Amino acid sequence: MIAVVSGLGPNGMLAALKLRAEGFDVVAADQRPAYNRSIHLNLRRSWLETVRSLDATLAEKLAAVTTPIRAFERLPHHDAAPFRLKRESALARRLATQPELHVRLDELERVFCAHLVKLPGIEVLTHTRVTVDGSDVRLGDRRLEAPALIVAAEGGKSPTARQLGLSMVKVSAPRFYISVHVDHSVGPITRRLDVDGLSSWAVGHGDPARGTWLVLEIPEKVHAGRPSSTIDREHFERGARQLLGVVPEPSAEGLRGTFRFEQQLLPRPVAGSNVLFLGDSAGMGHHALGTGLELGAWDIGFLRKGMSLEDHAARVVEARIELLAFGMHEYYPSLAEDPTEWIRQAITQGTDAVSRLEARLTGLSRRA
Ligand SMILES: Cc1cc2nc3c(=O)[nH]c(=O)nc-3n(C[C@H](O)[C@H](O)[C@H](O)COP(=O)(O)OP(=O)(O)OC[C@H]3O[C@@H](n4cnc5c(N)ncnc54)[C@H](O)[C@@H]3O)c2cc1C
Repeated sequence: MIAVVSGLGPNGMLAALKLRAEGFDVVAADQRPAYNRSIHLNLRRSWLETVRSLDATLAEKLAAVTTPIRAFERLPHHDAAPFRLKRESALARRLATQPELHVRLDELERVFCAHLVKLPGIEVLTHTRVTVDGSDVRLGDRRLEAPALIVAAEGGKSPTARQLGLSMVKVSAPRFYISVHVDHSVGPITRRLDVDGLSSWAVGHGDPARGTWLVLEIPEKVHAGRPSSTIDREHFERGARQLLGVVPEPSAEGLRGTFRFEQQLLPRPVAGSNVLFLGDSAGMGHHALGTGLELGAWDIGFLRKGMSLEDHAARVVEARIELLAFGMHEYYPSLAEDPTEWIRQAITQGTDAVSRLEARLTGLSRRA
């Protein structure tokens, strides 16, 4: 029985591993020729434990490229959040656990992929775009007729979702960030700064020689519609001064430009008789929480031979609702109510509920 995985980011690779363990013959492909995203991630130990439950050797190899995070600092100091989710599920507990490990995404991906290609039962194709065609799938020039399962783990801008006419419901306004690496070290810590409603991070590598990754928010009204390197540079200088106390030159890895981020989910992460979406393709919460991989690992737990796509969809959507409720609090740190029901309404009622939610939460945030 063949399963195809489209997208070999961390969640696609983990899905390939799980599908193999479930007895599928796996064909897994990524359109990229190489791994080069030098994003610095915070990982929870539970993610590594999920990998270990499938492949202990791989877990050891991945652990070797992580370094411990010694501390989280929040500037200015915040007391315990006033907000609690009403539901205390296993996933909510997992998400609420502080990430303990630091890893660079490209390093994690290279180690993971190098291991996958050696495993029997998984065929790995790089530089190969996957296209869904009815229940068939094309991998570059090759066509596979009606595989039992097609897992799309294509990230937040999934081309397959777009092609199939599925779109994300957004439950927050967009936020804009620049991402810059500096050689200056803050040590093995993650530092978060909240000023004027904007959030920024410094993520220090466990090896001080490898510097610090800055993720700096730029106000929407400044950035939207007219990004420029001058704006990026100004915000870099301000953010670096606030977070590090100095303004080092961006390192050879340089200014990486702006990215847009919002809380969103696919209301129905399945299509046809054999396509399902997981990882960031099914929805994304607040990246700084280190939840992208955690949630992917949660989704992957549902993959079984003979599973119902509808059951999978329901579980993936529930998990996203929990994540987004959790992440909404990071968007609006003064939020004192559980937004779960608003998110449910946004899914069923569409954009109207989203704008009401957004207006209400922004109002709450401003009043606090
Ligand atoms: C600045 C920044 C900081 C972040 N920090 C953190 C953090 O601290 N912790 C954390 O957990 N997450 C963090 N994230 C988010 C994290 O990177 C994502 O959650 C994670 O990479 C998602 O994994 P994924 O496998 O679902 O998707 P992706 O990593 O986006 O991978 C999708 C893959 O699918 C491939 N693809 C897409 N379409 C096709 C197609 N048609 N055919 C073949 N291949 C295709 C793409 O090439 C890509 O390789 C951060 C993100 C950013 C931008």
